[in-house]
Amino acid sequence: CGIIGCAGHGDDTLDVLLDGLETLEYRGYDSAGVALGGERLDVIKRAGRLSELREAIADRPEPPTGTHGIGHTRWSTHGPPTDENAHPHTDESGRVAVVHNGIVENYQSLRDELAADGVEFTSDTDTEVVPHLFAAYLDEGLDTMPAFRRTVDRLEGSYAVVATVAGDDRVLGTREDSPLVVGVGDGRAYLASDVPAFLAHTREVVYPADGEFVAVDADGWRLTDADGEPVDAEPTTVEWSA
Ligand code: GLU
Repeated sequence: CGIIGCAGHGDDTLDVLLDGLETLEYRGYDSAGVALGGERLDVIKRAGRLSELREAIADRPEPPTGTHGIGHTRWSTHGPPTDENAHPHTDESGRVAVVHNGIVENYQSLRDELAADGVEFTSDTDTEVVPHLFAAYLDEGLDTMPAFRRTVDRLEGSYAVVATVAGDDRVLGTREDSPLVVGVGDGRAYLASDVPAFLAHTREVVYPADGEFVAVDADGWRLTDADGEPVDAEPTTVEWSA
């Protein structure tokens, strides 16, 4: 339903994510969650309003911290609104975190394939196949971006997928028939399903096309096609206010 991600400099990653999710609130949702990274990923997610997530975070001895992160508000299509079904979803090792808008139409066959390899699922969602596939390709020895492209190549349906991997300071995204925009900031870049989610931080935006991939970090953004070849794009300036 709603996606926000950011990577780069700044010690307010959690605020960027939560405030971004708040601007996406008007779309309606049943669950919310965030993952922040570093050397390991810290995931926290709850069914219900954003206030439930904020309370769960406040109940912790320390808030999650990280130089990059991803956040999601869910409008469930596969599986009821529960804490387990909320995004981000992770692989078994907790090394990959993924948020997803839309539907993975072929999730059942992917799920059967992964289950046959011994993967244990923790949610009822179509989304959860994505982090497990991603982790499997990383285990095969692929680097982060090739493993992400290989994962997405397996998906059928409409989706915006945003992901991050522990120990990698980038946030990655791709889209197919579902919106995803890049926000280009100063020392930090953003990915979101909707421009208002990062409009408090930047008005410079790039619009990836269907089937393109983007990686953001402190140095900015890089757009590539399905083969990993660079794609040229010029940021445009958003003139309107949210
Ligand atoms: N199909 C996914 C789910 O049910 C994502 C739904 C959404 O777009 O929020 O979890």
